[in-house]
Amino acid sequence: MPIVTPLTRMLGIRVPIVQGGMQWVGVPRLAAAVSEAGGLGILTALTQPSPEALRVAIRETRKSTSKPFGVNITLLPTINPPDYEGYARAAFEEGVRIFETAGNNPGPLIKYFKANGCIVIHKCTTIRHAKSAEKMGVDVLSIDGFECAGHPGEDDIGGLVLLARAAKELKVPYIASGGIADARGFAAALALGAAGVNMGTRFMCTVESPIHQNVKDKIVASTERDTVHIFRTLHNTARVFKNKVSMEVVAIEKRGNAKFEDVRDLVSGARGRQVYETGDVDYGIWSAGITLGLIDDIPTCKELIQRFESGVEDTVGALSQIVQKENATVCPV
Ligand code: NAD
Repeated sequence: MPIVTPLTRMLGIRVPIVQGGMQWVGVPRLAAAVSEAGGLGILTALTQPSPEALRVAIRETRKSTSKPFGVNITLLPTINPPDYEGYARAAFEEGVRIFETAGNNPGPLIKYFKANGCIVIHKCTTIRHAKSAEKMGVDVLSIDGFECAGHPGEDDIGGLVLLARAAKELKVPYIASGGIADARGFAAALALGAAGVNMGTRFMCTVESPIHQNVKDKIVASTERDTVHIFRTLHNTARVFKNKVSMEVVAIEKRGNAKFEDVRDLVSGARGRQVYETGDVDYGIWSAGITLGLIDDIPTCKELIQRFESGVEDTVGALSQIVQKENATVCPV
């Protein structure tokens, strides 16, 4: 049975599953595989060294899929501030019309995309930020619970409560992000009023994901207890894999009065990238969500998305049986 939601209708996709924009992971091969499988693949703009390189990545993605895909632009503190506007313009000029924005002060970017007729999915971790993005005219909110990989914000609210709040407060469609890696979570998100889901860590651990096999194997072997928060004291909290480097960062922060410069060499994205390239999972910082505890294989994107589709049907079927049984108790025939 097709799963039809405002998201599938708006984006022209078959299954309401969005691949999160992950630094060093959201590259043409993965984005195209997700889109070909019926979801929405996302290229991560800042993974490309320049707006020109993003143009090349967009053209490469198009060679592998004629289906819709999007571009993520995340605005967070960075060691070398990127040319956000340049990336946005390059993607728009290359014909991209779906954007995922995230991070601080997204207003100018959202304004640019909306003035040019694009669809904007804005990711945020609080209802107040969601409402302010709604006022700016975003089309979809990606509601990111504390379970998520990367930056969960500073309020520490889990997805269950955030999504129930979203159902009460938001007028535009929203999707659930953080904590979803299986069909039960997908069905639960739909039950909470979400028009779909966004998944990052789960897509990292697929055949088409560009990261080293050792990292994929490590994800499979890990549990929900294998992540840690860094940058708590710098108000730029990030959930990352618990390894030698992230524990060293936490220890430095615990000593008190840590400045970014004290951890800069340990946490740099350039170093984290080496993890994905060499497979040394202890070499640098890499983002991972607590869905680590739910991931126990490395499927293709097609297998994964098909599993979600059939799994949702099974879960909804099981739920409807529970409802029938309760009716039978109340009104026995
Ligand atoms: P980077 O090497 O510039 O920085 C590494 C980490 O340190 C990042 O988490 C960054 O937010 C943090 N950081 C940098 N300067 C800081 C400061 N002054 N105070 C506190 N924290 C600071 O990052 P990168 O790996 O090259 O990634 C580029 C940007 O993309 C970063 O802002 C990163 O957070 C963001 N990002 C995006 C995604 C995504 O899904 N698009 C995923 C992960 C990270």
